[in-house]
Amino acid sequence: MSDNRIFNFNAGPAALPLPVLKEIKESFLNYQGSGMSVVEISHRSKHFDDIINDAVARTKRLLNLDDKFKVIFVQGGASMQFCMIPGNFLGQGDTADYVNTGTWSTKAIKEAEIQGKQINIVASSEHNNFSYIPSEIRFTKGASYVHITSNNTIKGTQWADFPDTNGVPIVADMSSDIMSRPLDVNKFGLIYAGAQKNIGPAGVCMVIIREDMLELLPDNKLPSMLKYSTYVSKNSMYNTPPCFAVYTIHLVLKWLEETIGGLAKMEQINRKKGKILYSLFDSGKFYSGTAALDSRSLMNVTFRLPTEELEKTFIQEALENGFGGLKGHRSVGGCRASIYNATSEEAVEALADFMKAFELKHS
Ligand SMILES: *Cc1c(COP(=O)(O)O)cnc(C)c1O
Repeated sequence: MSDNRIFNFNAGPAALPLPVLKEIKESFLNYQGSGMSVVEISHRSKHFDDIINDAVARTKRLLNLDDKFKVIFVQGGASMQFCMIPGNFLGQGDTADYVNTGTWSTKAIKEAEIQGKQINIVASSEHNNFSYIPSEIRFTKGASYVHITSNNTIKGTQWADFPDTNGVPIVADMSSDIMSRPLDVNKFGLIYAGAQKNIGPAGVCMVIIREDMLELLPDNKLPSMLKYSTYVSKNSMYNTPPCFAVYTIHLVLKWLEETIGGLAKMEQINRKKGKILYSLFDSGKFYSGTAALDSRSLMNVTFRLPTEELEKTFIQEALENGFGGLKGHRSVGGCRASIYNATSEEAVEALADFMKAFELKHS
C-alpha cells in the first residue's frame, strides 16, 4: 500500500476511502478559496450550508428516498439513538417490538426499559450466542415500531432480508451496514447509523426519519436536543453540528456515487469481498466462521482458529505483515475482519493470501 498505510480491518472507527482522506488533506488549510480550513468556517456560512445540503441530497439519491424522508445529523453516536427512539415514539400506553440479535440490540432494549417504556422482545438469538438472525417472528399488532439491528458488528451477523411487519414501521440500527447495499426504504420509519463504521469519522449519527414518525408523540415534553423535530426543523443546525464529521460524510457519499457508482455496485463489490473470506472457512477446517450460514455478515467476518494460542499468533503475525484490526471484540474473543465499503477487494485478497499461508505454516 502507498503512504505507509496498512490494510485496516478495524471494526470502528474504521477505514475510510483513500481518495477521501487525500481530498481532506489537500483542501485542509484553505477550503475552496475561503482562506480558512473547513474546521474554521462558520456553520452558518454558505460553504457549510452547501456541504450539509449536499450530504443530504446524496443520501436521498443513493437510497432512493422520496420527500417523506428527512435526513438529519445528530451527535452522541448510535448510542444516543437507543434513548431518543423510545423517548420520541412511545407515549402512555404505546408499545414497541424489539428483536435482540446481539450487544447493540441489548443496549437499545435497556435504554427503552430505563425510561419505563412498554416494549416486547419478540425474538432473540441470545440462547445460541447470537450466532443467527431469527426468522418467522410474530410481531405485535398496533406496536408503534419494530426495532432491529440490521448488522451485528460484534457477532458478525446481518439481516439478509427485512421482515414483513404488517405495516408497523421498522426502526433499524444500520451503523455497520448503511450504504453497503440498496434498500427498500418503504418498510422503514427510521434508520440510524453512527458514522464511524461505514460513512465517516466518529462524532455524528446519520438519522433518516419518515415524516409521519414525527407525529407519533405531538405533545411530548422532551428537551429540545433529544427531539427529532428540532433537528428536522433546523436542518440539523439547532446548535453547532459536528461540522468536520458532516464534511467527511459528504465526501464519502460523493465517492460512493461518483467513483463506485451507487449502492448496487457497492453491494456487488461487498459480495465478492465476503465470498473471498467465507470460502476459506467453507473449504477447510483451520478457520471456522462463527455466524450461521444464512446470517453471515458482509461487513464483519467473525471466525475462530483451532486454538486461542493460534489466534494470538495469527493476530500478531498479521500485524507484522501489515494487516491491522483483526482481533475480535473484547467481549467475544476470536478474530474479526471488518470489510466495510472502504476496504478494497485488493485488501481482502491480500488478507486471504496471508490466511492461506498462515494455515499452511501452522497446520
Ligand atoms: C458501533 C455500533 C454502535 C455504537 O455506536 P456509537 O457511535 O459508539 O454509539 C451501535 N450499533 C451498532 C450496530 C454499532 O456497530
